Amino acid sequence: MQELTHYINGEHVKGTSGRFADVYNPATGEVQAKVPLASAAEMDIAVQAASAAQPAWAATNPQRRARVMMKFVALLNDNMDRLAEALSREHGKTLPDAAGDVQRGLEVVEYCVGAPELLKGDFTDSAGPGIDMYSMRQALGVCAGVTPFNFPAMIPMWMFAPAIACGNAFILKPSERDPSVPLMLAELMEQAGLPKGILQVVNGDKEAVDAIIAHDVIQSIGFVGSTPIAEYIYGRGCANGKRVQCFGGAKNHMIIMPDADLDQAADALIGAGYGAAGERCMAISVAVPVGKDTADKLIEKLIPRIESLKVGPYTAGSDADYGPVVTAAAKANILRLVETGVDQGAELVVDGRDFNLQGYEDGFFVGPHLFDHATKVMDIYTKEIFGPVLVCVRAETYEEALGLAMDHEYGNGTAIYTRDGDTARDFANRINIGMVGINVPIPVPLAYHTFGGWKKSAFGDLNQHGPDAFKFYTRTKTITSRWPSGIRQGGEFNFKAMD
Ligand code: NAD
Repeated sequence: MQELTHYINGEHVKGTSGRFADVYNPATGEVQAKVPLASAAEMDIAVQAASAAQPAWAATNPQRRARVMMKFVALLNDNMDRLAEALSREHGKTLPDAAGDVQRGLEVVEYCVGAPELLKGDFTDSAGPGIDMYSMRQALGVCAGVTPFNFPAMIPMWMFAPAIACGNAFILKPSERDPSVPLMLAELMEQAGLPKGILQVVNGDKEAVDAIIAHDVIQSIGFVGSTPIAEYIYGRGCANGKRVQCFGGAKNHMIIMPDADLDQAADALIGAGYGAAGERCMAISVAVPVGKDTADKLIEKLIPRIESLKVGPYTAGSDADYGPVVTAAAKANILRLVETGVDQGAELVVDGRDFNLQGYEDGFFVGPHLFDHATKVMDIYTKEIFGPVLVCVRAETYEEALGLAMDHEYGNGTAIYTRDGDTARDFANRINIGMVGINVPIPVPLAYHTFGGWKKSAFGDLNQHGPDAFKFYTRTKTITSRWPSGIRQGGEFNFKAMD
């Protein structure tokens, strides 16, 4: 059995806590490795190494720091197949999807190559007589990130690339479900020229996260995962005086207007609802067709598309549309929620409950499901299922559809399918959700925009990546300077405006 490590101060280090978690191959159900779960003492070793290495890194000029990012991008491309394979083996997603996971992280690293430009401060010449004023953005020091299982390459890179480009040291606590790719990324960063101690991976569970929250030296925490944990880390982290941003769960609605191209909408729902087995925070999990005719036609178009979905292991390459879910517990939770949908009276028009993949009977595969006539009080509507289950809630009017999305506690992403510019514009303006697609099912912003939801999908003031990340990972300092020739008037006792 492979025993994974931590990556501390440039070395692979064995766990010493004596606690481990199983890492599965979700396609076969086999335990393929065990990952050490760090104690607070092990976390402290990493924090001390980070703290020792960070000042010199912050003093390295930003162009040199950016060159590490440039080299890292090249290494990611060189190692793409190896990374995607390791990712699929632990997560279960298909190989093309795993490569996409790496690619969407890589694009943020590319953005970070522009750090020298993004970190430039402001300058006011002659703010007063002989007085100049300037502000600069300085690194926070030691930062930490806690990431979810569903994007083990992309989300760690969304955090550590801007943090490090800004001159911080970063401690990553990845998901214990799929920790291998984060370890590989740390190795590649060092091959790209990053000094030891600036990026470390400390594997673990709640104990390691609590050690991050409690550690005085750690200045900031970035979290992505489920909403209850996001709320816990946000509350505790802020109370401990840290800068914190936490991104939580989702229930993304797609509104389908009567004038929409229904073939296009149905295709979009298949990709956005079932891709990655529905384990995406930007997956569409609720379809809201407007009007009975739209709903009937949409369901009619969805059923054959769903029934012909190919579910398989990542080794099937592009012959699989989606793979298994991440653990047996995740599978059980999805099937439990499906049962509540049936019990509470929704119509299960595509039933994947008996799905079995020959040769992979012990894998964590879940067949695709489609519910029609769900209502807003049902568990399948109120809760995040995070599986290949699309829930259709019919609406009579556009206002009713809009109200459903607005009243839902989550506000990560949403989409509208329509041919009418007025409706689309009204939707974009009024909706209380962070990322909006107009005839685009998964509106994940590119690296130079920012990513973040509203309501219970995000806690904190700034989004991930783009310009917000450079604000989150730096502090502003403003200097007012006057040189000796200007200081000849003796003491000044009033709080004075500039002349
Ligand atoms: P999770 O909340 O179970 O775990 C996320 C991280 O928190 C992991 O590193 C885990 O070790 C840690 N953790 C788990 N329990 C903890 C506890 N009690 N105390 C402290 N730390 C704890 O989430 P997950 O299952 O890995 O990921 C899926 C969730 O992430 C979904 O809800 C999904 O919507 C969400 N997600 C959100 C976004 C976004 O940007 N909003 C992106 C991706 C995933």
